[in-house]
Amino acid sequence: MTPQEQAWREQRTAVIRKYEETEKRTDFIDDDEIRRILESRAHPDRPQIEEVLAKARELKGLTPEEAAVLINCRDPELVQEVFATARWIKEEVYGNRIVLFAPLYLSSPCVNNCAYCGFRHTNDAVTKRTLSLEELEQEVRILISKGHKRLIVVYGEHPESDIDYMCRTIEKIYSIKKGRGEIRRVNVNAPPLTVEEYRRVKDVGIGTYQVFQETYHHATYRKMHPANTPKGSYRWRLFAQHRAQEAGIDDVAIGALFGLYDWRFEVLGLIIHARDLEREFGVGPHTISFPRLEPALNTPLTTNSPYLVSDEDFKKVIAVLRCAVPYTGMILTCRERPEFRREAIRLGISQVDAGSRIAVGGYAEMEREHIPDRQQFQLGDTRSLDEFIYELCQDGYIPSFCTSCYRAARTGCHFMSFAKKGLVKNFCIPNAALTFKEYLLDYASPQTRALGEEVIGHYLEWFNQKMPKRTPQLHKLLQRVEAGERDAKF
Ligand code: SAM
Ligand code: SF4
Repeated sequence: MTPQEQAWREQRTAVIRKYEETEKRTDFIDDDEIRRILESRAHPDRPQIEEVLAKARELKGLTPEEAAVLINCRDPELVQEVFATARWIKEEVYGNRIVLFAPLYLSSPCVNNCAYCGFRHTNDAVTKRTLSLEELEQEVRILISKGHKRLIVVYGEHPESDIDYMCRTIEKIYSIKKGRGEIRRVNVNAPPLTVEEYRRVKDVGIGTYQVFQETYHHATYRKMHPANTPKGSYRWRLFAQHRAQEAGIDDVAIGALFGLYDWRFEVLGLIIHARDLEREFGVGPHTISFPRLEPALNTPLTTNSPYLVSDEDFKKVIAVLRCAVPYTGMILTCRERPEFRREAIRLGISQVDAGSRIAVGGYAEMEREHIPDRQQFQLGDTRSLDEFIYELCQDGYIPSFCTSCYRAARTGCHFMSFAKKGLVKNFCIPNAALTFKEYLLDYASPQTRALGEEVIGHYLEWFNQKMPKRTPQLHKLLQRVEAGERDAKF
């Protein structure tokens, strides 16, 4: 470790210690209580399960106790009912649209030593680097030229990628234009910040701030994250979203890394976290992520963890979360293999990445699908954005690059009040059609364009049945897009 890294780690750790001494909130994750809930519902019978599914269909969410009933449902026929309910909820709230984004790794040097991560400080098998603004521009231009409008930018915890670097890079991304394209929403996945630092990233116009707790189980958290590193503080991370909310960032996102501990425990941890945000701020997380542990170079835990989650259990993770937090966006990433993504998306997913590369600087070498000695972990789906979109269309979804809620100030509580009235899809579908039309005109292959136009036609009919009075407005906007206008919003 260089003296500069050492000094920075100490300074960061001091900030966290001070925070721990002054933070008044109490840790809302009670490990014993979660265990007790899971054990007390270990063998639910059919009437119990059906009662919880009926409650889920009221779209009011589920308590941890109710979620535990579904988690422990093992009868194959009833498991199918859980899946069907999750599908129904997703369509009720969001319609059949799928939002697309791309991850952009800006830096990999990190002073932390998370046991599962290829970027951990002591892992010399992976080469770490931080992009310059010029390199960043090259990556963003490639992403724009593929058709992307939404990014999640990812940072390590390191002096090279401090708050100044974060703000500079986000501002830079928004400034880049290429042809008719641009990035319209930059979400962030980065280490937790202080309230003052969150204010700074809010001021440069970020969308969602995402921090994963990794594991809610305290003993496992301690095992995975050495105490002498900034990430060693469970509470600093647990209240990351609370501090972001205090700073006025009202779209915050939570997640757990599945495979570190018992998946049942983590599902309840996520639900309890979402409920605590809702209790304090009147709004739950904007999205929930549930990445599964993937192999990383020189990182044995990623293949030998006793808690790796099977596909069947992982489908339950998705479906139970959809039933428990009906209004929250749910993200499935390119960590998963193509066949499995196709199946899992049906269970309640609303956002996915596509055409992703996760080596730092990886888009400049797009044809190299995997660069293990520069990646945090191995990707499962390396198909192009166009290929992926074609498959979504075949499966009846309408792909969306929409960023309009956040730019029309439909965020936080305001967004949730829309969602809760079942109104989101009335905005999502027309905005999906408008942004998908842009994609088809500017970036799609001929094959995808032909199928995509059919999909838009189908959704126009749907919209006409739902909101006949507003259909002419949508037609007019689509014509304006056809004539060359971009960023038309419903
Ligand atoms: N360094 C920041 C942090 O840890 O908060 C930024 C995020 S890190 C680059 C992104 C996320 O990748 C982590 O929060 C973790 O959940 C996930 N991750 C790390 N190693 C992984 C692995 N081997 N397989 C799958 N996901 C992994
Ligand atoms: Fe660093 Fe994040 Fe990897 Fe941990 S997960 S070593 S904090 S990049």
